[in-house]
This record gives sequence, C-alpha cells and structure tokens, in this order.
Amino acid sequence: MPDNTEAQQRLKPIKDALAGSPEPHLLNGEQYKVSLRDGRRIVDADGNDIEDVTTHPHLKRTVATVAEVMDLQFNPATQDDVTYIDPETQTRRAVGWQVPITKDDLYKKRLANKAITRQTLGMFGRPPDYGPAMALGFLGIIDRVEKENPEFAQNIRNFVAQSGSLNTLSTDLILDTQSDRTVPRNDRPGTLRVVKETPDGIVLRGSKVAGSMGALTHFFTLSTVLGGGLSGDAAIWAAIPVNSPGLSLIMREPTIKLDASSEDHPIDSRGEEMDQLMIFDDVFIPQEYVFSLHNLELLTLYHESCAYALWHIMTRLGYRAELFAGTAQIIADILGTDKIPGVRNTIAQISMYAQTLRSYSLASVERAVEWCGVQVPEPGLVAAGRLYSIQEYPNILYRIQDLCGQGLVSRWPEKVWNHPEFGPRLEEMLPGHGVSAREKNRFFNFVFDLTTGGMAGRVGLFENVNATPPAIVAELVYDHVDRSDAANFIRSYTGLPQA
Ligand SMILES: Cc1cc2nc3c(=O)[nH]c(=O)nc-3n(C[C@H](O)[C@H](O)[C@H](O)COP(=O)(O)OP(=O)(O)OC[C@H]3O[C@@H](n4cnc5c(N)ncnc54)[C@H](O)[C@@H]3O)c2cc1C
Repeated sequence: MPDNTEAQQRLKPIKDALAGSPEPHLLNGEQYKVSLRDGRRIVDADGNDIEDVTTHPHLKRTVATVAEVMDLQFNPATQDDVTYIDPETQTRRAVGWQVPITKDDLYKKRLANKAITRQTLGMFGRPPDYGPAMALGFLGIIDRVEKENPEFAQNIRNFVAQSGSLNTLSTDLILDTQSDRTVPRNDRPGTLRVVKETPDGIVLRGSKVAGSMGALTHFFTLSTVLGGGLSGDAAIWAAIPVNSPGLSLIMREPTIKLDASSEDHPIDSRGEEMDQLMIFDDVFIPQEYVFSLHNLELLTLYHESCAYALWHIMTRLGYRAELFAGTAQIIADILGTDKIPGVRNTIAQISMYAQTLRSYSLASVERAVEWCGVQVPEPGLVAAGRLYSIQEYPNILYRIQDLCGQGLVSRWPEKVWNHPEFGPRLEEMLPGHGVSAREKNRFFNFVFDLTTGGMAGRVGLFENVNATPPAIVAELVYDHVDRSDAANFIRSYTGLPQA
C-alpha cells in the first residue's frame, strides 16, 4: 500500500514508534506512549484542548497503566500468555489479534485475559486485548458482508491483519448518543450519518457515545447493530482512526483524586478508564476502513457481531470475581472473622460467583461454534453468563462491603499515620490479625477503591450497561437459548400437542 494514502498517513505515528524495534509487531509501553502523540483532538473536562494525553493530569496515570499492560508482552513471566508466534511469519504478535481458528486459540485468549485482568485489577473494561474482540466478531459474520460487497469483506480482513501487525489498540462504538427516545431513531439529533461518498471514502457527521478508553487507543470499530428504524445513510460499519481530522473527543470529568498516593488509593492512583462523547464534524474515512454501508440487513446483528466482545467481558468478570473471592478471604483473615459460619457462607457465595463465571467461560469455549471459519464461543452460553454476571455483580460487591464492617470507613490517610502524636496511637489501637494497623489500613484502602470509591462506582455502572443493559441481554438469552427439546418433552409428558 503506498504510504501517501490518507489511511497510511493516520498510521504513521504508530509505524514511527515501532521503527527499528527488535519486535516489529509489538509496542512496548514507551512506544505505546509515543504512538499516542498523533494529533488527536481531545478536550478535557475543564474545556481545554489536551496537547499530550501521556502527560495530561486526567489521563497520564491511565496511560502509564496501559503502558504496563503493553510491557507484559516483553516480560518473560507473561510474554507467552499475552503474545503468540504467528505460524506464517514466525513473528511474535499480540494474542488479542490472533484469529481463533481452533479452541486452543480461544483458551490462549483466556490466559491473556487473566494476565491483563491481574495487571489492571479488571477495572478497565476496554484493555488492549478487548479491542480486537469487536473486529474478530466482524470476521464471524463476514459471509453477510461478502454478499453485500466483497471489497468491504476484504477491508475487514485487511484491518485485522494490519492491527495484528502494528499491535494497535481499538475500542467499539455501538451505542447512539442518549436523547429523547420518543423521537423516531432516525430523526434523533445526534445520529451519525454518511453525508458524502466518494470513490476514496466516506464523510461522517453526527456523534457517538462512551467509546470507553477511546482517547488512549488508535481506532474505533464502529458497527450499527442494535435494531432497525434507521435509514441507509446511518447504517455504517467502519474503522475510525482516533486521529482523524474533524473528530473531537469530549472527556467526562474524572472520578478519582488526581493526586492520590498509592498508599491512600492503591487502585485509583493507577488511573481510571475514561469515557467521552465523540463529535464528528465531516470526518473523512478512507475507503480501506469502510466495512459496510446502507446495509439494513446488518442492523440486528448485535448478538452475532459482539460474540467475542461479550465473551471477553464475561471472562474478565470471572477473573475479577476470583480477585473478589481472594479479597474476601483476606478481609476475614485479618479481621479474625474466618471461623464465623455466616462469614464463611458469605465467602462461599462470592467464590460461587467466581466459579460459575469460570464455568460459563470454559463451557462456551468447549461448545464453541464455527462461523465463517473462525471459532466463536457458544453465544447462547455467553449471553446467559453475561446476564448472570451483571445481575449478581451488585450483590457480590455488597457482600464484600459487608464483610469489612467499619473497615471501609475507618481508614486514615498516610499524613495521619505519619503524624508524630497520632500515628503511633493508631498503630497501637487498630492492629489486625497477623498484620499491623497501618498494613490493615492500606488493605482497606485497596478494598475501598475496588468496591466503593468513585472509580468503583463508575466501573459498576459500566459493568451493568457497557454492552447493553440487562433487559436487552435477557432478550438475547430468551431468543438464543434453545428450550424446545425440554419443552417438547414436557408437552409429551403432559399430553399437550408438540409445538
Ligand atoms: C461507563 C459506560 C461506558 C460505556 N462504554 C461504551 C462503549 O465503549 N461503547 C459503546 O458503544 N457504548 C458504551 N456505553 C454505552 C452503553 O452501552 C449504553 O449506555 C447502554 O447500552 C444503555 O443505552 P443508553 O444509555 O442509550 O440508554 P437508554 O436507551 O437511554 O435507556 C435507558 C434505560 O432504559 C432501559 N431500556 C432502554 N431500552 C430498553 C429495552 N429495549 N429493553 C429494556 N430496557 C430498556 C434500560 O434500563 C436502559 O438502561 C457505555 C456506557 C457507560 C455508562
């Protein structure tokens, strides 16, 4: 592909960051940071344009945490979990972008998911291995795109190959901006539309919402799949470079204290996943990145195209749940409550949540289906597991909070612990079982960030609706989980006619 095309120009900062690297298909943390200095337009919650996302106070800690995730690709302890050797080129690449041809490829994605969840505590729903999930979902339904336009289908394959080659980060854009739902969908003011088509590409105008993490990725993967009621000019599937001229990202306000220390806020101090509104002012999308246009048949393919994304979310929540269970155990250990039957029962409930999600994730791989030559975790099991994961989530957090007693409130900042008069008094009065008072305080700071603080609140909202609200997921379970065999058995048993 010639380097002077619009698409290649947008990629130049990533290619420059990778240039001369011993691993030409893997960005390390530092290269990732360099790749973000690419002319993207980001406006912070104070209304100021952000010059450099890697140094901006609202974003720099998040950038540093994502950079740590990228560095897992070079760490001997984790490298084989988060990367693989591409059999064709014998080069090392990120597991997220590996096209799953076998079940083992899906199991490998679980290993990457676990390593990255441990690195981020699962507080980021759109970590680097999540972005590929949406594009891989496009491969699972590529027969329908092929029918529409073989060139678009090839664009999807090329995008996946290019992303794997450059280790790019992406995030998905599905939802419309929120406005009065009594207005017909097609007439809503924010609806993203194609306003111009040329042989070189399309021009987009309108808006999209959330795209969590978008300010710190390289691409948005856009798909229009949540139902009908739109005209063809709003039925768009494409990859959108974050540094496209005319695209503005308006960030929400941070939920964390920006100067939090790692002692006072062991999780918040590592930054939060940010969300934003995307405004498209006549954004040109090169033809290479157009995946479908005007195709009303694709408007209801949410369940199919999001199969990997939903599986990733459920699997990550399973690994997070393991962290919840471990946290619950430590609470009981250090408070000395671990012999109390009610406490043991609560910890058992939290463990059951983790075990159930683990089972859903593994079973959906074991029962994977082949769509268009790729292995897709069994979507009915994934939908059921995801519904379970979000319905139970608030109960699980409540249980952890309950185990803490006063621990989530009776916490003091490090300045108090360093106080010459009161620090030693607190140390004397508040010890835990097998831990000093200050160690216990630090641990409850961790639990507070994990379950209760502002960022935990945002994460709770996110888990509930990030890939559509529970009621819509319940519809998926209703539609896609087959009950006919059992229903016919009961019909025979009770003398009713077969359906
Ligand atoms: C923190 C956060 C991060 C997000 N990240 C992303 C992202 O990265 N990419 C992306 O595309 N989107 C993202 N979203 C958007 C998210 O998917 C939507 O917020 C969610 O699907 C709900 O849509 P809405 O906000 O338009 O709600 P509305 O349509 O305004 O509906 C409000 C509520 O009404 C109810 N409701 C609406 N429709 C139905 C229905 N058909 N059946 C039953 N109940 C219904 C539900 O309770 C729903 O929550 C994110 C949202 C949040 C809060």
